[in-house]
Amino acid sequence: MKKTPFVTRDKIEEIVKDHPTPFHIYDEAGIRRTAQAVKDAFAWNEGFREYFAVKATPNPYIMKIMQDYDFGFDCSSEAELVLSDVVGADGAHIMFTSNETPAREYALAHRLGAIINLDDITHIPFLASIIGDEFPETMSCRYNPGGIFQLSNGIMDNPGDSKYGMTKEQLIEAYAQMKAHGVKHFGLHAFLASNTVTNEYYPELAGQLFELAAVIHKALGIHFSFINLSGGVGVPYRPDQEPNDIAVIGEGVHQKFDEILVPAGMGDVAIYTEMGRFMMAPYGALVTKAIHEKHIYKEYIGVDACAANLMRPAMYGAYHHVTVLGKENEPCDHRYDVVGALCENNDKFAVDRMLPKIDKGDYLYIHDTGAHGSSMGYNYNGRLWSAELLLHTDGSVQEIRRAETLRDYFATFDQTEFADKLMDYEK
Ligand SMILES: *Cc1c(COP(=O)(O)O)cnc(C)c1O
Repeated sequence: MKKTPFVTRDKIEEIVKDHPTPFHIYDEAGIRRTAQAVKDAFAWNEGFREYFAVKATPNPYIMKIMQDYDFGFDCSSEAELVLSDVVGADGAHIMFTSNETPAREYALAHRLGAIINLDDITHIPFLASIIGDEFPETMSCRYNPGGIFQLSNGIMDNPGDSKYGMTKEQLIEAYAQMKAHGVKHFGLHAFLASNTVTNEYYPELAGQLFELAAVIHKALGIHFSFINLSGGVGVPYRPDQEPNDIAVIGEGVHQKFDEILVPAGMGDVAIYTEMGRFMMAPYGALVTKAIHEKHIYKEYIGVDACAANLMRPAMYGAYHHVTVLGKENEPCDHRYDVVGALCENNDKFAVDRMLPKIDKGDYLYIHDTGAHGSSMGYNYNGRLWSAELLLHTDGSVQEIRRAETLRDYFATFDQTEFADKLMDYEK
């Protein structure tokens, strides 16, 4: 599918007057379109709820948009829990799916009334040592089936090599122990494959979880109130990929529900999801300016963003499509490495990429940074975090997170010792 930016060069030229590059910009219209499509796809399930994976885009202004669709938030850290609290989410709208969890984070999740989703059976006594013997009425467990998870189109992942979740035997024992702690309603969760660009993933996962829940329901006589399909629904980062159709995915889960859960007398189970990437990735872009060109053994375009603003290419070799704004219709007849300023040779947004001729001053639009983009930022080489902007449906632009400053960078040093010098730089 042709990848088209949600802003034009003209619009970016207007925006940079107030907000210098680099920045991440998010498209409210696209976010709302997808949120509504997700709601519609699962409307057949009365209790359905998406718990937006906060780690994808931990910004309260984005979370506020999600709340218009009655979505909750999937959290795995203190800061993510606090973000959910400050935007006004109640406990039923907070899923705490953490691992290697510090005690204070369980204490906070419990105080907020969040739904606690346990990653391991040993966390039951650990939790009891923090909150006491009386557990919340509703709790959940994360399942890891081990082995290889494979779909018919060849997409696979390796749960047997992943640190998350419990074995089936542990899971059954965990539910029995939780029941003894007074838990009345249970959830079952699994995340078996990441960024699946296929409509098959959720239905296949749902089938496995539904069957397992039916077996456990029968064996232990416990009530499952929800099954959580977690994240993993992907987006087409590459132009040759077909996007997922969430309506088809929702219908696929519906079929499994009718085949497995309804006959087991479990037709009241709510379906939960924890999508991050699918909700946000295509509706964010990193906008950066070409500031250097270099001709040595290869052709390099140096830009004012770097891997500290978008880590995925450096970390996973991930592909992010690049559009040179204003040159959408020019031939891609130049081969470039598009690189940032880090003193690391993997700081490359694109390698051997065919693009139109780039001139200094051109704006490059790096696609699909709306999830796991800004949020994976870091400060290596003393690089500062860029701003996040929200393009509203009416065309106005709001800065929803300012760019980091030197003062932020110095904030964790004892500033009294360096304050005078630092002030010179702020002028
Ligand atoms: C990262 C994560 C998600 C979101 O995954 P996406 O691939 O962004 O949809 C959901 N749940 C858990 C537990 C996660 O760790």
